[in-house]
Amino acid sequence: MQLTVLGCWAPYPRPEEACSGYLLQSETTALMMEAGHGSFARLTKHIDYKQLAGLVITHYHPDHYADIHCLRHAIEGARRDGRMENTIKLFIPPKPAEIFRELAEFTMAFSVVNIEELPTCDFNGVPTRIVQLNDLTMYFIPILHVLPGYAVLIRQGEQSLFFSSDTAPTPEIARAASNVDLLLCEASGLNKDADKLAGIHMTAWQAGELARQVRANRLVLTHFWPEYNVDELLAEAEESYSSGVLAAGQNTVFKLP
Ligand SMILES: [Zn+2]
Ligand SMILES: [Zn+2]
Repeated sequence: MQLTVLGCWAPYPRPEEACSGYLLQSETTALMMEAGHGSFARLTKHIDYKQLAGLVITHYHPDHYADIHCLRHAIEGARRDGRMENTIKLFIPPKPAEIFRELAEFTMAFSVVNIEELPTCDFNGVPTRIVQLNDLTMYFIPILHVLPGYAVLIRQGEQSLFFSSDTAPTPEIARAASNVDLLLCEASGLNKDADKLAGIHMTAWQAGELARQVRANRLVLTHFWPEYNVDELLAEAEESYSSGVLAAGQNTVFKLP
């Protein structure tokens, strides 16, 4: 698998850059995870959006889903004039219900999947929702955040990637991310911000601590507030995880394993 960062900023982007967005590609499948502000334009620099098999939205904060409207209009246009036959799979949370209902009406572009209606699967003692998308197996794990939503574990053959979404640390997340090849983890602040972020987000140090606990092969930090110096976030993550911490950056590509 290969992960391309389309955007790593939250809740607004730096100039010329984008909020949360990731493109995960295997040999047969292209999956977009998150569609924050500016991520759709970035996506189209890397692939033809018509090749996407699916889009995962982990929760309904705009920096994670605002550009769903761009993708919707692009697909609708392509299908109207015969450039595209199929819809793409859209995996979304059911709550808040008014947002789910709005997105569920975009049936010209998407085949909507309510994550909460997927089959359950016990993974490492954690109740998850599971779905197969071609060669990718996706597990959804509840997050601890302002809104309900999910972290995502994606496995393909022997390879695995865990995306934290926005969440405070939880025992379930730590168990589900066990021994993952690549941990893509939010780092929404420095140690000095820990009280402000408690129960909602992770600091960079906590992201490092999670990577250490789960024995992640690699840790990639993401979800940066533009006013932070990313090198300071990296330095604090390295205090808890000494095996090498990387930072997501615009258009950065990470190959697994
Ligand atoms: Zn966010
Ligand atoms: Zn959020």
